Amino acid sequence: MFKIAISKGRIFKETLPLLAKADIFPLDDPERSRKLILDTNHTEIKLVIIRASDVPTYVEYGAAEMGVAGKDVLLEQGGEGIYEPLDLKIARCRLMVAGPPTPPLRRRLRIATKYVNTTQRYYLGKGEQVEIIKLYGSMELAPLVGLADRIVDVVDTGNTLRANGLLPLEHIADISSRIIVNKAAMKMRSPLIKKLLQQLKIAVEQMA
Ligand code: AMP
Repeated sequence: MFKIAISKGRIFKETLPLLAKADIFPLDDPERSRKLILDTNHTEIKLVIIRASDVPTYVEYGAAEMGVAGKDVLLEQGGEGIYEPLDLKIARCRLMVAGPPTPPLRRRLRIATKYVNTTQRYYLGKGEQVEIIKLYGSMELAPLVGLADRIVDVVDTGNTLRANGLLPLEHIADISSRIIVNKAAMKMRSPLIKKLLQQLKIAVEQMA
């Protein structure tokens, strides 16, 4: 069996046309089905549906040979123990510092984010001491209720920031989804992986 780990929602939707060009078609729609392992038109290839932040873990441990993961998740988790051979150039957005137009409340900035490691690395690089508060969602709320001075989050259109009176302030990284591959699988399943990567690379170039 060859398992490709992928998360539901935007990444799945935008990966589908690329998989189709590599002749892989899931037989179920994860938005409708509750199945976590989806069959495809190839009996040996399955799609494993998991949370975006769990995709690198499944691939690192070899529970899935391949995966599709956002660069935001890979930056946060370190991306160790896996290969990242292809940028799919989908689900693109920017990882940004954002905040209200008013000056910060505290001299030592307090930052709310789910990207704790990336935020720590970013401010360390700037030589700035900050306090980081880990949140799991709705980061935009934190500055509105005085929990934090700034947030670090992914921004696409900027509509969510604007709707909450926040401004994008600093650009940390450009984000897109990447193909990741288990290191042992890259050797053991090399012919299939090479073929898939080649087909996906052509599909990415055609979509550009
Ligand atoms: P937007 O209002 O278009 O800037 O979208 C911002 C919201 O959508 C943020 O709260 C993000 O959590 C989410 N978001 C936007 N783009 C992505 C992406 N490529 N991957 C994951 N989440 C995203």
